[in-house]
Amino acid sequence: MSATRVFVDPAALRKGEVHITDPTAVHHLVRVLRVRPGDEIVAVVPGDGEYPAVVTRVLEDAVKARAGERRVPQVEPRVEVHLYQALPKADRMELVIQKATEIGVHRVIPVRTLRTVVDIPAGRQARRLARWRSIAREAARQSGRLAIPAVEAPLPLQEALATAPGLRLMAAVGEGSLRLSEALPADASCVSLFIGPEGGFSEAERRMAVDLEAKLVSLGPRVLRTETAGLVALTLVLGLLGDL
Ligand code: SAH
Repeated sequence: MSATRVFVDPAALRKGEVHITDPTAVHHLVRVLRVRPGDEIVAVVPGDGEYPAVVTRVLEDAVKARAGERRVPQVEPRVEVHLYQALPKADRMELVIQKATEIGVHRVIPVRTLRTVVDIPAGRQARRLARWRSIAREAARQSGRLAIPAVEAPLPLQEALATAPGLRLMAAVGEGSLRLSEALPADASCVSLFIGPEGGFSEAERRMAVDLEAKLVSLGPRVLRTETAGLVALTLVLGLLGDL
């Protein structure tokens, strides 16, 4: 079995020692995995690299380990993909965040569109966002990533389109859409993907996207469910750019 991975803050790593105090990580290591001194783990500092480490002490609320040399395996895609996903039902959004993280997404932004039928009651938004972020973190940990994708609070489509970085691609069923391979330059380094709700983007939303210099792209001849479409588009972009 490969060594357990754990995300830590840069501050947890000092003078060749890792001092893990994050309650979720400690719970996982101590209660779930029952690590003991001598066990090997991998401490991952997001955005920096990973450090193989050997556990030296196990306490109620902390785990200490001796850290080895930093490694930076090439697991993060060279292209940043920002997935603007029309908000589906709660469990579907969780699925998209989890799977998109495994595949290699950089950032996920739920989007409200004209035909979005789901709403999150104001009182539940903070909790929902915290849950999405913990799903991204856990999926990133399990899939061996060195970065945790950011998950944002839902944005209205117009604001999302106006602020999306890089090349903007809107997945749209039907005529007038380019093939993804035609819309994607081989040297793209940042791509924002827009995925519509079950009812699709409205005509006005498509026009707004084109006015804001987005390109409409097809994901093939079959109509995909919204949660499938985002994952397929992400996979295609990474595949076409040689990252899978
Ligand atoms: N009834 C809708 C289908 C929506 S499918 C319509 O005709 O537009 C949900 C979303 O997934 C779409 O808004 C689009 O963003 C994406 N999607 C699904 N299948 C697609 C395909 N074959 N090509 C491009 N986008 C697709």
